[in-house]
Formats: sequence, C-alpha cells, structure tokens
Amino acid sequence: MDARIVVLAGDGIGPEVTAEAEKVLTAVGQKFGHTFTFDQQLMGGRAIDELGTSLPDATVEAAKTADAVLLGAVGGPKWDNPNAADRPERGLLAIRKALNLFANLRPVKLHPQLIAASAIKEEVLAGVDLLVVRELTGGAYFGPRKEAGADGDEAYDTMLYTTPEIERVVRLSAEAAMGRSKKLTSVDKANVLASSRLWRRVTVEVLKEYPELEVEHVLVDAMAMHLIRRPADFDVVVSENLFGDILTDEASMLAGSMGMLPSASLGDLMNNHNLPLGLYEPIHGSAPDIAGHSIANPLAAILSSAMLLRHSLGLEKEAAAIEAAVDSVLNEGVRTMDIAHTGTETVGTVVMGDLVVQALGR
Ligand code: NAD
Repeated sequence: MDARIVVLAGDGIGPEVTAEAEKVLTAVGQKFGHTFTFDQQLMGGRAIDELGTSLPDATVEAAKTADAVLLGAVGGPKWDNPNAADRPERGLLAIRKALNLFANLRPVKLHPQLIAASAIKEEVLAGVDLLVVRELTGGAYFGPRKEAGADGDEAYDTMLYTTPEIERVVRLSAEAAMGRSKKLTSVDKANVLASSRLWRRVTVEVLKEYPELEVEHVLVDAMAMHLIRRPADFDVVVSENLFGDILTDEASMLAGSMGMLPSASLGDLMNNHNLPLGLYEPIHGSAPDIAGHSIANPLAAILSSAMLLRHSLGLEKEAAAIEAAVDSVLNEGVRTMDIAHTGTETVGTVVMGDLVVQALGR
C-alpha cells in the first residue's frame, strides 16, 4: 500500500517524538511491503513564528487530502501570552473542527512491566484495558460564551449539544464496544444539566440498535471515583467534551506515564482507502521542561502510529507488530527516564526508537 501521512511535528518535544514514530512507520512499511510518504506541515507555535498563524491554510489542505495525520504536540511558554491574537492551541482546536474530528479515542492499557510506575495499587490496576471516547467538537469548548473583559464581573460558557452530535459519537463508541467486550459506559450529569439529559435520552435511543451491549449510565462525579477504585470493571467509556477531557487525563494516570499513551481523533471524512481520515497524537503536551534534551519518551507517539495504521489504513497486522515490538523492548528492561525504576536501563528518545525498530526486525 502507498499512503501519504501529514506530519504536524509541532513544538517542544513534538518533533523529537514524531521523528521516532516516522522511523518506526518506515521500518514497518519495509517489513510488510508498504510505502509511507511523510508530508511535513506547520501548526502551533512554530507556525505562528514562521507564518503568523497557528493553522496555515496549506496545512488544512494537505491534511484534508492525506490518508492520515500524525501530530506531536503544540505550545510552550514562548507563546503563553493570554492576550496574544493567536495561540498554538487554537491551531489544534481549528484543525479538529476543519477535519470534523468528533471522537477522540484513548485506549488505556497497562503494560504489566510498568505497574511500578503507576501511582495506583497493583491489585486495583490488574486487568485494566479501557477505551475512553471523548466527544470533541461540541459542549462548553465551542458553545456561546462571554468573556468578562478588563473590568467585567460576569463570564459564561455554554454546554451546547445537538441530537446528531450525540448520536454520531455514541454510535462510534457502540461499534467500538461491539468489537471489544460488548460493555459500554456512558457518562453524563443528567441529574443537573439539561445538555446531559439530552445526552442520556439520545444515548438510550441509539443503543436500542445494539441490544447485545451491556450498557451503564454513570454520573461524571461518580465516574471520577470509580475510575480510580475499580478501573478494571470498565471497557468502553463515552462522554461529552469537557467531562471527557478530565476523565481521559485521570485515566492516563492508571498507565503510569503520559509518555505511554496514544490517541486517535476520528471523524466522518474518508481517505483514499475509504477509511476514516484520523489525527493521531500522543496524549502528552510539548513538555517544554525536557525539550531539546532527547530524553522524552517516544512510545506514546510510536503507539499513536500503530493506531494510525489500524484505523486509517486498515493495517491491523502491522499495527499489532508495532505494539508487540514496544512490549518486547519493555520486557528487555529498557526505559526512558519518565518510566525508569530500579533495575531498568535508561535510554534517550532516539535509542528507544532504534530499539523498537530492531524489535520489529526480529
Ligand atoms: P505536558 O504533557 O507537556 O507535560 C507534563 C509533564 O509530563 C512534564 O513534566 C513533562 O516533562 C512530562 N512529559 C510529557 N510528555 C512526556 C514524554 N513523552 N516523556 C517524558 N515526559 C513527558 O503538559 P504541560 O506541561 O501541562 O504542557 C506543556 C505545553 O504543552 C503547554 O503549552 C500546553 O498547552 C501544551 N499541550 C499541548 C497538547 C497538544 O498539543 N495536544 C496537549 C497538552 C498540552
């Protein structure tokens, strides 16, 4: 297969970790007879510096016609001025909107070798294998808002949802659950919020199409507690944008380090292979505190590239090969600094990428 992958390396450690993901994708392509072409485009802080906008039109055009998009991370202290006309994160929100990426998928699977790196007790973590789906284009992040201004004392955000927005993300989650353990948990705050009552009503309706699914509706405050107390009881979890933002970060702590977790954002645009055009990125940010030292963990970016192969190119065998290679390197006791513990060997970003490539070759 030939595929064109747009790479938005971004800022901070973004270029460091995406370079390793590209290296691994090239190696997997060679092993299985595919050609992946990488089309580097600008987004975020570097795009503001070089072109005066966090999301250049050329980037949107390249992404829309690509087979998939691989993102590092954007942002950093250099662009942190809240009064600036443009900010790196605006580029990210805008590309999600431009590509209509309405569902963010975050698998949280604990690599048994990393149990010591998690802050949670081992017996609670045993068997954790979650897929958290966050709605990405609606809710309080996009609803009507009012800023307080310099001397104002009133501000608001509006958690606005429509039936079709809820239907499409719940349906995507239900399909994912059907391919896993047929368990789906929908999270809302239907006892208080009108938008959550709509969420609950539409969810119940859509899920009538999936009688085989075991469905649970959980209030978001209770879910925050259950995720830490009994995470292994859940499989696919779906929620609206703001709740999902918070719950996915909480769930990431189960896996020990942000440097381990990939994500996929999917929408309804199809690529040349008639599969969803997706944007794949590690869940971590640009980590300006460690950028430039080649110590960042590239595994989240590498595992994001495995998700890219699976969801946007339909290459399941190749995706599984990357995941197995990552497991094999962890089994050998090799770690980047963020997941290191006594008895392991610490390596930098590039060596970790090289070791995954070597493991692929075995
Ligand atoms: P962060 O995820 O960048 O870093 C949090 C902590 O985790 C830091 O100590 C960092 O060193 C560590 N860390 C993160 N990724 C790591 C990796 N791969 N290997 C080893 N350690 C890693 O979050 P932050 O510090 O809150 O944000 C920094 C910048 O990133 C901000 O400008 C923020 O807006 C941006 N950000 C961007 C995205 C994105 O592009 N999707 C997501 C989150 C944050």
